[in-house]
Amino acid sequence: MKLLTCILFFIALSAFAQPETITRKLNNDWAEVQFDSLGPLNKMAYADTANFMHQKVYPCARCLLRPEVAEALDKAYQLAQDKGYRLVLYDCYRPYPIQYKMYEIVNNPLYVAKPGKGSNHNRGQAVDISLADENGTLLDMGSAFDEFSEVSHYAYSDISRKARRNRRRLRNIMTEAGFTPMESEWWHFDYKQRTYDTSDYVWDCY
Ligand SMILES: [Zn+2]
Repeated sequence: MKLLTCILFFIALSAFAQPETITRKLNNDWAEVQFDSLGPLNKMAYADTANFMHQKVYPCARCLLRPEVAEALDKAYQLAQDKGYRLVLYDCYRPYPIQYKMYEIVNNPLYVAKPGKGSNHNRGQAVDISLADENGTLLDMGSAFDEFSEVSHYAYSDISRKARRNRRRLRNIMTEAGFTPMESEWWHFDYKQRTYDTSDYVWDCY
């Protein structure tokens, strides 16, 4: 009976235990963020029509990153968790052929960069990210992800104090984990500690 109590207690405990890392190495080139009920929230915008293009351009919602970048994101996850927050992923590695497709759909270099030497998303070394509370409610960041206007600039002052504080929280977590923020998009962070090649690889869906 005692053993059964112990086993039940252990099962209950592990059901609520937070994962220690949120990424899993796939091979030498790629690691993947693990979305589960207690880890980061999967809001991968381009695998859905709820984005600024109103089109689904990814085959499915997987978040791939270069292995060293994934390690930095694991660190961000720990830092966020220590403060009682969950990470929210909007975009990770963006296959280079899909960058072309997005450029064709939007046809406006103000919103999608003309494919040239490629962006850090095409290299698997950038994330579009936000924070949620422990219940999964998104924190107010003063603008939606993908809102391409001044209100998305990190330092834009005409947003609530709460939103300014949340932007600062996200930035502090990400910079401490080794990422570099971007002034014009509060949600975008680059990993600049090494440079990877752009990639055409498109993940499988299963
Ligand atoms: Zn981005």
